[in-house]
Amino acid sequence: MERCPVCRARFKDEPVCYRCGADLSVLLAIESEATALERRAVTLLGAGEWIEARRIAERARALYSSPLAAAVLDLTHRELIASEVQVLERLLR
Ligand SMILES: [Zn+2]
Repeated sequence: MERCPVCRARFKDEPVCYRCGADLSVLLAIESEATALERRAVTLLGAGEWIEARRIAERARALYSSPLAAAVLDLTHRELIASEVQVLERLLR
């Protein structure tokens, strides 16, 4: 989170906005859960677990839209299509 969603004040790593007093703790918790899910998705990606990596990245993106979750989704999408193509090519031989 870069700015308070209520008043747009710059976020200063505090659970309460210094300007408007909005409670940001729930948002911070969601953001940190999304970050943990992103890390798990990247680990699964490294292990070649495409379907599970994609499932976890979708959960992360549902919580908090980030370029990393989007990249994992894009990569798993391409890998899953490539593996489907390989299966089809084997069947057609
Ligand atoms: Zn604020």
